[in-house]
Amino acid sequence: MVKYRYKEFKSVLNKLTYPDSWFWARYTLNTYSGCAHACTYCDARSQRYYLEDFENEVIIKTNFDKKLDQRFKRARTLLPDIIAPGGVNDAYQPIEQKIEHSRKVLQVIAKHKFPINIATKSKLVVRDIDILKEIAKETWSTVGFSISTVNEELANFLEPHSSNPSERLKALHTIKLKAPEIQVGIYFMPIIPFLEDDAVSLEDVIKQSKKVGAEFVLFAPGLTLRDAQAQFFIKKLKNSRYNDIVKPLLELYKGHTNPPAYYVRKLNPTLYALCQEYKLAVRVKRWIPNDYRKWNYKISELLLNKEYVDAITTGKSNNNMKWAGLNLNNLDVSIIDVFKRDELSKLKNFSKEIIEFVKPYLEKINTTNEKITLERFIN
Ligand code: SF4
Repeated sequence: MVKYRYKEFKSVLNKLTYPDSWFWARYTLNTYSGCAHACTYCDARSQRYYLEDFENEVIIKTNFDKKLDQRFKRARTLLPDIIAPGGVNDAYQPIEQKIEHSRKVLQVIAKHKFPINIATKSKLVVRDIDILKEIAKETWSTVGFSISTVNEELANFLEPHSSNPSERLKALHTIKLKAPEIQVGIYFMPIIPFLEDDAVSLEDVIKQSKKVGAEFVLFAPGLTLRDAQAQFFIKKLKNSRYNDIVKPLLELYKGHTNPPAYYVRKLNPTLYALCQEYKLAVRVKRWIPNDYRKWNYKISELLLNKEYVDAITTGKSNNNMKWAGLNLNNLDVSIIDVFKRDELSKLKNFSKEIIEFVKPYLEKINTTNEKITLERFIN
């Protein structure tokens, strides 16, 4: 039986130093602390989150909507950017149905015209289509359903209290039909080794995602196995019909927190090829502001998408390209002006390789008087 407690928190909005290059979030917020979905693999059980009894005691953050409204009003310099609710909790966990806590917060976000990216395992998000649609029309809104399997029995073991996968897929389809302006997709993570990583299971998730109208599938092989979270998950597995994977799983991780690089390098190209086959983007299409940040964000997206796809297809990361892309988000002038002054080399991590890559795009933008839409690296 989950206990619910109301508590007032000082902080309501957290600004990230760099945007999260997967979800493009610049701000995070958590309307709840703790999560009654209680997924057996959930990383929130690890000690680094200091959440003692995160699935049995859920804290509802009192006056969250009012505090957020004040935060927006007071901070006149707070630039609109993507807000991602729910880091180690789900904004649409069961209690939300009754108290409409996250819905009220969504109304404040809509009022202040900030874009939003929601990740959830609940069909309840469909209830808020009206507000999400309004946000999409004003700025940008994305809903990604977190799915790691379409096998209902397995999902019942791994994610016992969330909507089942078919309900999540149905919810995605409903949003797609009722509000096509909302970007919809799947967060295919974590992928549990030996349970969800065989060719048929991988293809099933991608095929079903396409069928219901997902625009992207953002995937991540493996899962973390960290201290208390690892102990909990292994114990659950041992007492389940899936106990035969415990030995190979522990052998694969060999005491490490993450799966070995060779495992990830093997799975990533398979997932990428499947997304190509089903014509699904492997990246979320980014929100682009209409101020001096416009081309900084577009070029940043271009660099980060290229780095991402190169890394998953070749197994090699390009840290310089990644940091060039991330740093661009903090530039306080337009990259077009920097380019016109021939000062690209002064930008952080803009090596010869990076300049050569972005220059053709900047030349095109410059000569066409910024009226073109920069073709995204991946559509
Ligand atoms: S929905 Fe997310 S935060 Fe909640 S228990 Fe599951 S994995 Fe953890």
